[in-house]
Amino acid sequence: AKSAGGNRFELADPEADARAITRHGLTTALPTALDRGEFFIEYQPLVHLGDGSVRGAEALVRWLHPQHGVLGPDRFIPLAEHTGLIVPLGRWVLEQSVRQARDWRERYDQAGPLRINVNLSPCQLTHPGLVQDTVDILERMGVEPDALCLEVTESALIGADDDLLKPLRRLAEMGVDIALDDFGTGYSNLANLRRLPVSILKLDRSFTQSMQQFPADPVDLKIVEGIVALAHSLNLAVTVEGVETGAQAEQLRILGCDTAQGWYYARPGPPERLHELALVDATG
Ligand code: C2E
Ligand code: CA
Ligand code: CA
Ligand code: CA
Repeated sequence: AKSAGGNRFELADPEADARAITRHGLTTALPTALDRGEFFIEYQPLVHLGDGSVRGAEALVRWLHPQHGVLGPDRFIPLAEHTGLIVPLGRWVLEQSVRQARDWRERYDQAGPLRINVNLSPCQLTHPGLVQDTVDILERMGVEPDALCLEVTESALIGADDDLLKPLRRLAEMGVDIALDDFGTGYSNLANLRRLPVSILKLDRSFTQSMQQFPADPVDLKIVEGIVALAHSLNLAVTVEGVETGAQAEQLRILGCDTAQGWYYARPGPPERLHELALVDATG
């Protein structure tokens, strides 16, 4: 509400102002948060839709802020991209995640070779150290490249020229999987897919949400069916995110999707949680 009086210090929108103050505070605290060890990673399992087995996990970063508590990535990744911290932060996430994958592989090998998915921001893609950093981390940890999947959003690759694709192509040649994240939201030209060094499509949560009603919207079903057929014809695997119910999982399985992720299986959590899920699964 606007003040009728002449007090020019009165705020027109206190909430917007509070958000701005918080954002300013976060921007100030962000550069040193990495050194202070305030980031941590939660892992969310990736489950094979055919047999229900845990195949790996996506690493999702969080910030344990001393005043604000746990902040989700949507609160600080844009700031980290803006300030450039995303490069060292992304490297840290990659190193932690690869170390975690090694740990799973060493100690829980009866659960199968669990893989790790790590998100890459567009700024990391254009950073010249990406390939070397990734190679170094894999070698230092003694983890095979095929244990790693890097997720890049569809929108980051729209209109990508060869310079942008080169590092991804190098990583793909080494055996690292590249997944196209949030697929279906970026209006990319489907024919363009052939040009990209990706081996996995991650279908955006909006598609999964449309499977909530029963029967699902027949047009949505057709669209997902078409995407899956196209992906498979190009030798791409399809992962679906945001699966919250068994009905969705069943529908997406019938539509031919390969792997799923979502609250129905598990929320993102500490790495021990994945051990438990994978072991239960392996021992029946
Ligand atoms: P994303 O890559 O699309 O990750 C999936 C998001 O969906 C995660 O949100 C996850 O917690 C959430 N989610 C998983 N299952 C369900 C479900 O069944 N229902 C619903 N409603 N949501 C579900 P989160 O953890 O808040 O991450 C948000 C975004 O932040 C990620 O979206 C990703 O783009 C980005 N992000 C996370 N970690 C990193 C990172 O290390 N580096 C970069 N560059 N980005 C990251
Ligand atoms: Ca992702
Ligand atoms: Ca996604
Ligand atoms: Ca998403």
